[in-house]
Amino acid sequence: MSEGATMVNPYRPRLLRIEAMRDETPDVRTLTLGFLDEVEGASFPAWEPGQFGEYTVFGAGESVFALANTADREPGSAAVVECTYRAIGKVTTALRGLDVGEVLGFRGPYGNAFPLADWHGRDLVFLGAASAWPHFARRSTPCSGVVRTTARWSS
Ligand SMILES: Cc1cc2nc3c(=O)[nH]c(=O)nc-3n(C[C@H](O)[C@H](O)[C@H](O)COP(=O)(O)OP(=O)(O)OC[C@H]3O[C@@H](n4cnc5c(N)ncnc54)[C@H](O)[C@@H]3O)c2cc1C
Repeated sequence: MSEGATMVNPYRPRLLRIEAMRDETPDVRTLTLGFLDEVEGASFPAWEPGQFGEYTVFGAGESVFALANTADREPGSAAVVECTYRAIGKVTTALRGLDVGEVLGFRGPYGNAFPLADWHGRDLVFLGAASAWPHFARRSTPCSGVVRTTARWSS
């Protein structure tokens, strides 16, 4: 690790504020989340398509969602995290009740990334169900650049 670099503990929850929300369907919503602590946000590590985060809805519990946006940002600027989730049960219904400005807990990034370099130029077929597609949403530019998808939300 370079001198002055900050070690980030991926197991410690960070606090993220809902900066914006967008409804994709009546029960699928995309949240844009910013770090309350800008220093923490600036030192937050990059992630790759395929990785996910653990989101805490205080008083309700935790749920796992894909990191639905790219990690691209200007050097030194705070990360912005997006997730797209379906309201299906206890936590996701509670999350649906939150508004812009409210705060979530977040841990991650976790999990393995997709081997995008190996996929490049190949014909690929993806089979998924339920809410398996946020990684391939239009903001996941590394994926959309190499993968042609036909995706359809259904409720
Ligand atoms: C690695 C990973 C990545 C994930 N990424 C996403 C994501 O990007 N977006 C997203 O919406 N979800 C994603 N999920 C699923 C998400 O974690 C769950 O839908 C969520 O935790 C449900 O929590 P809950 O408390 O609202 O539901 P619960 O109260 O725990 O479940 C209520 C009922 O709904 C059923 N159920 C739960 N989830 C689903 C589902 N997705 N489809 C159909 N039935 C279900 C359960 O079996 C149960 O009967 C991901 C899961 C994993 C493991």
